[in-house]
Amino acid sequence: MAKRDYYEVLGVQRDAGPEEIKKAYRRLAMKYHPDRNPNDPEAEAKFKEAKEAYEVLSDSSKRAAYDRFGHAGVEAGGAGFGGGFGPGDPFSDIFDEVFGSIFGAGARSRTQMYRGADLRYDLELTLEQAVFGDTVEIDIPSRVACETCDGTGAAPGTRRVTCATCKGHGQVRMQQGFISIQQTCPACRGAGTRVEKPCPDCSGSGIVRKLRTLSVKVPPGVDNGDRIRLAREGEPGRNGGPSGDLYVEIHVKPHPIFTRDGQNLSCEVPISFATAALGGTVEVPTLDGTIVLKVPPETQSGKVFCVKGKGVRSLRSPGSGDLFCRVQVETPVNLTSEQKKMLRRFDESIRGGGERHSPRARRWFDGVKSFFERMGA
Ligand SMILES: [Zn+2]
Ligand SMILES: [Zn+2]
Repeated sequence: MAKRDYYEVLGVQRDAGPEEIKKAYRRLAMKYHPDRNPNDPEAEAKFKEAKEAYEVLSDSSKRAAYDRFGHAGVEAGGAGFGGGFGPGDPFSDIFDEVFGSIFGAGARSRTQMYRGADLRYDLELTLEQAVFGDTVEIDIPSRVACETCDGTGAAPGTRRVTCATCKGHGQVRMQQGFISIQQTCPACRGAGTRVEKPCPDCSGSGIVRKLRTLSVKVPPGVDNGDRIRLAREGEPGRNGGPSGDLYVEIHVKPHPIFTRDGQNLSCEVPISFATAALGGTVEVPTLDGTIVLKVPPETQSGKVFCVKGKGVRSLRSPGSGDLFCRVQVETPVNLTSEQKKMLRRFDESIRGGGERHSPRARRWFDGVKSFFERMGA
């Protein structure tokens, strides 16, 4: 399903300020929160949609990326959003305000390491770039520590304070009947500290999104759907965990002359009626310069000539594909009366020869005739 525009989701104008966005989100979150709408998948979907829109629009760099690239600018390979309410989550604060401490009962240990999410980037290439390879610079939105608060999430001039609920342990003991269970502190999500006054630039998460420029080496012969893996260029890990990977997915733009099928290329080559009848040569473009194609006499329109080795060198198998040139006899246009007269005279001379000059037309007429005879019988 296509994603709705984030501004539309929150019902705000594109130039809405942070306060307005926060207010709009809070209204929707209150309305559609799962606790208020138990067993209502539609409300849940609306809640998630609003949450995602808010995560992007409340963050100045993510919002800039979204305004520039749309959903693709903030997409995280499906793994970036909706990952729950972990420590350092930008929603912690707003949810504390709105719902108190009902969230965060997950069983995460504060010392557990998390590998960062993999990211996907869709890279558009021309056919030439895909065939010969290239080095392309891409800007990817990535999460980096917020400079304003040094990654702490606390507003400048303030500090993170020890969590009162767990006294800084990150874990709390819950008594349930005879059993005592240790679980992650719901107030600080196991961090042991919490932000009293969130940093305005990162909403208390300590992390902001910035566009990062990476250089991607595209090997020759790539095709639609191929993926180039850039190890450790994905989202940073948590608690010292390794970063995820970045997958660059190739999309080849349509070419004005060539169509590609795996290693083979094909193109249409218009030739004149005279060249088709008498034979001759015609210049044909290839991806690395032109070649001369020999057209034998009596060539019919639609005939395909194969030029060996002028296709695409593949990533996976040795050798190159072929170039298939389909000749198309072009009907002359804008004829002068003199040329028309010559052509009529020529046509009469052809008709005089009958089957000798036009075996296909003869066969076709014979076919049509016997068809009508069968119909009549
Ligand atoms: Zn910050
Ligand atoms: Zn705590």
